[in-house]
Amino acid sequence: MKKKIIITIVITIVFSLVLATTSFLTIFNVENMRKVKSNLKNYAEYIVRNNYEDINEVKGIKLDNTTIRCTYINSKGQVIYDTLGEVYENHLNRIEVKEALKDGEAYAVRNSTTDNEKLVYYAKKLDNGNILRLSVSFKSISYFNFYKLGYSLIIGILIFVFTFIISMKLVRTIMKPVNELEEVTSRIARGDLHIRAKAKTNDELGTLGKTFNNMADQLQNKINEVMDKQNRLESIVKSMESGVIAVDLSGNIIVINPYAKRIFGIKDDIIGEKIYDYIEDFDINYFLNEEEEISKEIKLLHPVERELKIKKAFILSGREKIGKVIAVQDISDIKRLENMRSQFVANVTHELKTPLTSIKGFAETLKYVEDEKTREKFLDIIDNEAERLSRLISDILVLSKIESSTTTDDEDFMPYIVIDEVISIVKNMAESKNILLIVEKSEKDIKLHGDKDKFLQLVLNLVENGIKYSNEGSTVKVRSFIKKGDYILEVEDNGIGIPKEDMPRIFERFYRVDKSRKGGGTGLGLAIVKHIVKIFNGEISIDSELNKGSIFTVTIKNI
Ligand code: ADP
Repeated sequence: MKKKIIITIVITIVFSLVLATTSFLTIFNVENMRKVKSNLKNYAEYIVRNNYEDINEVKGIKLDNTTIRCTYINSKGQVIYDTLGEVYENHLNRIEVKEALKDGEAYAVRNSTTDNEKLVYYAKKLDNGNILRLSVSFKSISYFNFYKLGYSLIIGILIFVFTFIISMKLVRTIMKPVNELEEVTSRIARGDLHIRAKAKTNDELGTLGKTFNNMADQLQNKINEVMDKQNRLESIVKSMESGVIAVDLSGNIIVINPYAKRIFGIKDDIIGEKIYDYIEDFDINYFLNEEEEISKEIKLLHPVERELKIKKAFILSGREKIGKVIAVQDISDIKRLENMRSQFVANVTHELKTPLTSIKGFAETLKYVEDEKTREKFLDIIDNEAERLSRLISDILVLSKIESSTTTDDEDFMPYIVIDEVISIVKNMAESKNILLIVEKSEKDIKLHGDKDKFLQLVLNLVENGIKYSNEGSTVKVRSFIKKGDYILEVEDNGIGIPKEDMPRIFERFYRVDKSRKGGGTGLGLAIVKHIVKIFNGEISIDSELNKGSIFTVTIKNI
């Protein structure tokens, strides 16, 4: 740009100088010629006025230091005298002579046939019919000679140098803001969006700078907006509880969120890598390449066995498909719950069916039994089975109420009061088995927060189990205290204990250690306890030894 301007300026200066010089010289020459012609005429009139007929009178007349040639010619063209010397040639055919004879006076600029030099002629017809002709060398009046050309050249060079320096200054003045603007533009292009051009002047460059700054502001706003959107989208994708993977048409990963990485056991940054190198599951890869299928449930075997639901959508740019995005949902829990539910229904049906079948069988047989004793026995069995059925239904109802209730009647309560209440409820039951109930430790200043009725159910189930699974004459102890900021409830018995292999399963619904165990219940008591402990954000543990006894410990942290 700078080079171009300089070349243009140099050409313009040279062209202007040449044009100005030639115009000046032409005008000067024309003007000079006009002056010379007028002077020649004046001299001619002076000579005529003074009747200079003798050659000596006109010899030596000078115009600007150049001797004027004076020729006196008669009407026949014969030269009477010529200040140049003897001239014998007839001058009638000289153009100025011819025209002067015709018009009275005439000018001519031509080569002299006499001395072969370019001359300016003026011829005047005198009253006696003769012609007085004055001429002067053209060289003497032409400005354009080498001597004068030298001066012109020096002046031209000086003008050129001077104009060039001024022009360079001008170029620098123009180029400085342009260069600054260029620097600012490239810095913005490199990502430095805060930089702005200095637009101080009020000229076109200043306006350009201001417009550029405006444009940069808008660009920055737009980029910030896009970045904001991108960040928001990234945070959403990152925090999603579903896996998201986007790939281009060649299977290169564009986006993968942490959840998807976790599902597929990927730890590295795999953006730009081929998805098939990291997810080697046949079903997923087949699903990705299949155009038609948009949703599918699959079983992932590696790294952890999971049930997944995957959905696919195309990424479009205009109408063109440029990639695919798949959403992966881990439905293992839902599937497990579904299984559990159907298992629970099957269990409930089975559990209810057993006493019902028994009741129905004995009731039918009863019709044909006449023996009083047997009837009594059958009626007792029916009564026991009905009782069991009722307990089963009431336990199922309690469990489902605890499981489904989202709101609880939370309040502050004293656990020692609840324990006392439980003791009075189970008192008769304990006495009937001659079991001693001891509240060994019950700190009175402890306050718990939560659903008091549920806490009572928890203590009741544990103490009832202690009584149920202990032999006659044994002891059940309850302890309630604070240890390192945690609330501890212990129910200890020296009853029949729990076999080691059954311990992990006794909190399952309907699980009973040995169905033939005396006093066995519904198998739901500990499942209810586990749920209530969970509601109180606590933990439950068992320490048990077969035929020695068990300790159930409930810990509620940081009360
Ligand atoms: P159930 O209604 O049968 O008592 P639970 O869920 O309360 O059902 O108990 C599950 C199983 O755990 C019981 O069948 C019983 O064999 C065993 N169990 C529970 N508490 C005790 C205990 N204190 N001592 C010995 N066994 C126990």
